[in-house]
Parts: sequence; structure tokens; C-alpha cells
Amino acid sequence: MTIHQNLIAGEWVGSDAIKNINPSNTNDVVGEYARASADDAKAAIAAAKAAFPGWSRSGILERHAILKKTADEILARKDELGTLLAREEGKTLPEAIGETIRAAQIFEFFAGETLRLAGEVIPSVRPNIGVEITREAVGVVGIITPWNFPIAIPAWKIAPALAYGNTVVFKPAELVPGCAWAIVDILHRAGLPKGVLNLVMGKGSVVGQAMLESPDVAAITFTGSTGTGKRVAAASIEHNRKFQLEMGGKNPFVVLDDADLTVAVEAAANSGFFSTGQRCTASSRLIVTEGIHDRFVAALTEKLKTLVVDDALKAGTHIGPVVDAGQLKQDTDYIEIGKGEGAKLAFGGDLVKRDNPGFYLQPTLFTEATNAMRISREEIFGPVVSVIRVKDYDEALATANDTPFGLSSGIATTSLKHATHFKRNAEAGMVMVNLPTAGVDFHVPFGGRKGSSYGPREQGKYANEFYTTVKTAYTLA
Ligand code: NDP
Repeated sequence: MTIHQNLIAGEWVGSDAIKNINPSNTNDVVGEYARASADDAKAAIAAAKAAFPGWSRSGILERHAILKKTADEILARKDELGTLLAREEGKTLPEAIGETIRAAQIFEFFAGETLRLAGEVIPSVRPNIGVEITREAVGVVGIITPWNFPIAIPAWKIAPALAYGNTVVFKPAELVPGCAWAIVDILHRAGLPKGVLNLVMGKGSVVGQAMLESPDVAAITFTGSTGTGKRVAAASIEHNRKFQLEMGGKNPFVVLDDADLTVAVEAAANSGFFSTGQRCTASSRLIVTEGIHDRFVAALTEKLKTLVVDDALKAGTHIGPVVDAGQLKQDTDYIEIGKGEGAKLAFGGDLVKRDNPGFYLQPTLFTEATNAMRISREEIFGPVVSVIRVKDYDEALATANDTPFGLSSGIATTSLKHATHFKRNAEAGMVMVNLPTAGVDFHVPFGGRKGSSYGPREQGKYANEFYTTVKTAYTLA
């Protein structure tokens, strides 16, 4: 099997490789991918540093052309790349193709942004002086990504980093090197100069850690767990660098008595179980008022019976496997914790056997949960959802906000009054009315509050707050 190598200073390098395993079928090896060392990471950082002066002053048409060409190739290969994504991560093929299209849209969006970066010229408070405010590239940006969106998250970090003139050292999650390698290959062939984008696949504790410790990395953008996020923060403060963290969620989805039951059930099922519940915007807390509670639980349980758990590539699969054995253990441990805490197991809870050996888990629903239980407070990151019964809207809102996290918050209601009040008072970076907590647009800000996020928002034009630094220049006329 050919080894997919790391890209350092414009050269494909590396011979020590690991196998990328399909979670739908652990006999299926998706490919072999090089494993970078700490020294490789240092070489990548040095290459990015050397390339920065040239790239940060490169013409915006050159950057536009490379990003646009990348978008076009990703879109043209959406079925092939979507299949790769479904094979290495386990989300269903339609979800994986959708994510691939999303990556193309993001590259296209930021191709356009290269032509739109504007500053300001404003009068000085002093006579005969002009003031210009401009945005400049930050420097070498370290990009550390998780496994759950193997192509979209790298796209929404790499595209703005390059668009605004930064150079990049990119470390994808070791579980999903396939999509990472594919988009780096596309960008490289699209004409990026040597060293502008470097790929270092490998272990976070080795490659990621080397990035955290380098004084030459000017900014780090990270998506992943709270624990690693805190390490990124501490190391970044030590080096006085910019950092941006996107961490977990415990996103609430409120269902009020006046909700349209079908809308509420569809949104809750999508929020909790699609992509196997492995989305930072997934909802694993359904907060339901008394008047609709029993009807909602009955209808959601009926819906869960119709969801097919199977191979991600099989037509008709609604829920693919959990990403790996470690995550499956985390999910099943939480199911035991929920039972032990006194929540009622209303559906699922068991592993599922399919034709191929894979990490299959039934969609699992707890009822009679309280917001104080660990299953209601800690991110499970699997297809495991709890229903919390509340008296009325006020208690629902208070319960929704009673969490250390604040990424996304949803409500199902037909009341304009409650929808408006919820949008204003939900303590979250994103609020959804009659929509799943997950599923966002690519041209508007993405991010959260409290323990979910730190630093400027990602995506859309707001991305320039992280990927550029502001300069104020004064000129005597
Ligand atoms: P991690 O935070 O460990 O992984 C995220 C990224 O950080 C990966 O690329 C990882 O590398 C890297 N990393 C790990 N250790 C270090 C380090 N010391 N220095 C620098 N980078 C490092 O999350 P996991 O993948 O282990 O997932 C654990 C839990 O995190 C999940 O169960 C879920 O609860 C949450 N999570 C949340 C996500 C979100 O979107 N908010 C996404 C993914 C996970 P590598 O994995 O290659 O070793």
C-alpha cells in the first residue's frame, strides 16, 4: 500500500506510517498515512516561517485563484471524497458528501474574501493627520483539528488562514488523516508556494504538543476536547500568541407544550442522533414541558425505531458506527452511568451486530433524567440523549442555561413570544428555533460561549478577527 506522506516545505516526506481503519468494517484499511515526529513538526514550522514574508505579501488574485481552484476540485470529486470521509469517520454517505460540498463552499467563500479585505481611513482628532486602519496576516498559524468533521473543519480553518496571507502548519486528528491529506494535496497542486501549507499527521501528544511549544507559531486554532483546549490555552499564553478554541457542548433542545409535534420530533432526532451524535452542536438534553412530554417521548421513540444503524456506505443507513473503540467505550460507560444515576432507559442502550465488524451502537434515549445528572452535564459525544421534564417555559429556559457549556441552543415552539424571548435569553453562541441544534450556514459566524469556545468566531467574514491583526497608521499631511 502506498504511504500518504506529510507535506513539509513543499516536499512529501515520511515513511513511518499507521493504518487508517474504517469504523464500519474494521477489516477495511482505508490507507496508510505517515506519522510525523516532533522534529517533523519543527521542520514544518520553520518552513512556514520562511514562507511567510512571501505569502503575506502575495497578490490577492493569486490567493483567490488557488482557493477557487481548490473549491472546484473538491466539488468535482465530492462523491469520491465523500466516500473516503464516510469510510474513515463513519458518518453516512449522504452526510459525508454533504460535508464535502460544504468544504468546497468554504474554499469558494474565502476565495471571494481575498478580494474583499478592506480597511478604514478616518480623520484624526489632530489637524493635518490621516489615520488608516488596516488588517495584516498574523504569521504562522497552527491548525489542530478533531476527527468528527474530517474535511469541513480543516477547510474552515485553512481557507481563511491562507486567504488572509498566513502560512500554515496543519495537524489533523490521527483517526482521520485521509480527508486531511486529500485537501492538502489539492491545495498543493493548485499552486501554493513551498512551505505555505505544511501537513504533519500524527499524534496530538507529539506533533500537536511540538506546535504548542514553538515560539514561532503566532496563532493556534483548535477544535476538540475541553482538556486539550485548556492545554492549548495555557501554552499559548506562555508564548503570548493568539488562540481560538472550539470545544464541546451540552446543547439543550427545548420542546414547549405549543410545539408542532412533528417538527419537534424531527429536530430532536436530527440533533441527537444524526452523525452518530458526534457533533459539537448535537443535542443530548431534551428539555420538555409537562403538557407535551408523554406525547413527545412516545413519538420520538417511534421515530427511533425507524432509524437504521449500519455501515456508513450502505444505502438506507441513518446512523453510522461510532468512530472507534475508545469513543464507543465512552458512550457505553455513560449509558451505565445514566442507569446508575436513576434515569430510565426508554430506548436502545445496546451494541448492534452487523455483517461487518464495526462500532455499532443503538440510538439510546433516557427519560426521567434530571439536569444534575452527569449524563446531563458532561459531553458524551455519541448517540445518547436524555429527556428532562420541566413545568413551564421559565423552568425550561433556566434548565437550558444551567450548563457549563454554551455552543448551540434550540427550541420547538409555535409561540412568537417564547421564540423571541428564547433567542434573546439563551446563553449560547447559536440559537435555533424549530430547527435542529446542529446544521449551520458557512457564511455566518460559528462559535459559542462559556466553556464551549474561546476567542473570535469562526467562519464567514468574522473569521478575519482571528486570522488578521489590526494596524493603525498615522500620516502627517
Ligand atoms: P482531543 O482534544 O484529544 O483531539 C482534538 C485534536 O487535538 C486532535 O487532533 C488531537 O490529536 C489533538 N491533541 C491531542 N492532544 C494534544 C496535545 N497535547 N497538544 C496538541 N494537540 C493535541 O479530542 P479527542 O479526539 O480525544 O476526543 C475526546 C472528546 O473530545 C470527545 O469524546 C468529545 O467529547 C470531544 N470532542 C469535541 C469535539 C468538538 O467538535 N467540540 C470534536 C472532537 C472531540 P490526535 O487525536 O491525533 O492525537
